[in-house]
Amino acid sequence: MQIMTTPGTLYIVPTPIGNLSDISSRALGVLQEVDLIAAEDTRHSSRLLSHYSISTKTISMHDHNEAARSKQLTSKLLEGLSIALVSDAGTPLISDPGFIFVRDCREQGIPVIALPGPCALTTALSASGLPTDKFTFHGFLPAKQQAKAHALTLLTNSGCTTVFYEAPRRIRDTMAACDASLQDDHEIVLAKEISKTFETYKQGKAKDILAWLDADAVHQKGEFVLMIYCPNNLQSDGASQEALALLTLLAKELPLKKAAAITAAHYGLKKNALYAIGLDTLK
Ligand code: SAM
Repeated sequence: MQIMTTPGTLYIVPTPIGNLSDISSRALGVLQEVDLIAAEDTRHSSRLLSHYSISTKTISMHDHNEAARSKQLTSKLLEGLSIALVSDAGTPLISDPGFIFVRDCREQGIPVIALPGPCALTTALSASGLPTDKFTFHGFLPAKQQAKAHALTLLTNSGCTTVFYEAPRRIRDTMAACDASLQDDHEIVLAKEISKTFETYKQGKAKDILAWLDADAVHQKGEFVLMIYCPNNLQSDGASQEALALLTLLAKELPLKKAAAITAAHYGLKKNALYAIGLDTLK
């Protein structure tokens, strides 16, 4: 068999997000060959490993034991063992454990090699039809209503696509918050159950997708990637995205004139121009 691993190296190995066939032959080779697999949930990963008849020993590494486990595993790597890191699905570290471990490895000069592979973020984005030249990824939105609304308000005039992960129990609330907090010019694509039997992409305004979620309880089940594009209406006026974010926030608490004056003073902009932008773009 082809040798795919080097002693003393950590391999970041993406695993399927729904369709078991979405694992590369290189990933299978590495999982087969390493001395140890650090898995977010060893029982979960054992299903994938046994499907591919891989009998490599596994050890858990999750949010609650990562720091301690990292110490233990970096010692093993320094002794010359090779280790693969996997999460329950997709690319480790992307809203998944692994950051502490990889950072520790880097600090100790341990080689880290990441294999390309499944990731809900990039898969959903590439099929969304929303602009991809510039995007931001925010992981999961805050659970609390006020913090969620605040995070969504900040998307106004972002001029890029913003990607969030969302859980089925929160998708309806999140879409209602989008409907309440986003300006009328937003575009949403909701990707559901990527690479699974009932894979669906829904596009439209928040209110349309909310109506779709409400139309059938089944629509709220599964795993979701929420993508929101908000055009930047300010570019031509020379005001920055940060300035508009501040204006938007202040205008929620103060009269628009006052909000525009404070924002203008802070960013060295013209207050009348900001006031006009506010009248134009804020509800
Ligand atoms: N590390 C993973 C990755 O690379 O995509 C993400 C892990 S995060 C804990 C899990 C979230 O990813 C889910 O709540 C969902 O938002 C998204 N996700 C994972 N698999 C998905 C799928 N098949 N379809 C849609 N979203 C998915």
